[in-house]
Amino acid sequence: SNVLEGKVALVTGGSRGIGAAVALRLAREGADVALTYEQRADRAADVVEQIKAVGRRALAMPVDSADADAMSGAVDRVAGEFGRLDILVNNAGVFLVGPVEELGPAEFERTVAVNVRAPFVASKAAARHMRESGRIINIGSNIAERAVFPGFALYAMSKTALVGLTKGLGRELGGRGVTVNLVNPGPTDTDANPADGPNAEMITGFTALGRYAAPADIAAAVAFLAGEDGGYVTGATINVDGGFTI
Ligand code: NDP
Repeated sequence: SNVLEGKVALVTGGSRGIGAAVALRLAREGADVALTYEQRADRAADVVEQIKAVGRRALAMPVDSADADAMSGAVDRVAGEFGRLDILVNNAGVFLVGPVEELGPAEFERTVAVNVRAPFVASKAAARHMRESGRIINIGSNIAERAVFPGFALYAMSKTALVGLTKGLGRELGGRGVTVNLVNPGPTDTDANPADGPNAEMITGFTALGRYAAPADIAAAVAFLAGEDGGYVTGATINVDGGFTI
């Protein structure tokens, strides 16, 4: 279908995993898609090729989300080069876990800069460009709702901050027809959490469906929120977690 034809999307952390699946799904729905990445220019180039192969414009930008000015500048660049910005997916995230005694100031600063400040800064910049039916979609984590493992205090804290950002911005931008929502993935088969990793069996045990998500499962929920069908959903959290938080 071409439900997003004529729309322009920006996906942060679109070179791999969930972000890459989201970028491709939005392109298949008809959007032109820009993405950011931190290191993996090779993987970003692959995603760009795949977006172009479905006939859409693509742009990959090396932008460390921890750099607030660069993050904000990337949003403005997309709006400038593509002429508009309709959809922002705040997906890039770091996953720094361990006993709280071992999580020092550096881990704290990095986690807050990438997982919290970047979505705030990018949303603020995007809001300036968005018109009626703009969409901001944050990628959180099921761990924010149910802290089943020790070692996740900092990460869970950063993802819970997105609940407040989503609700606050949803209220503020609603009058302009812009929706803001949060998608909380459960265990999803990516480099960060491989379905054949050492803890995968234990993690799978917490799901009701008894399996990991594919990145495409998360992308499907994002596509729903990005399209016209999701138009009356705002300020909401959608758990796409196989029942992990039931
Ligand atoms: P991956 O590690 O597979 O991919 C991370 C992506 O984000 C890459 O494209 C990476 O770029 C990019 N990225 C990381 N840090 C930065 C940064 N500082 N600046 C710019 N880009 C950056 O992660 P996932 O796909 O698994 O996770 C995506 C999101 O989903 C994250 O927010 C994560 O917290 C969340 N999530 C994931 C779950 C899972 O089980 N996988 C569960 C719940 C939530 P590069 O390729 O250049 O390194």
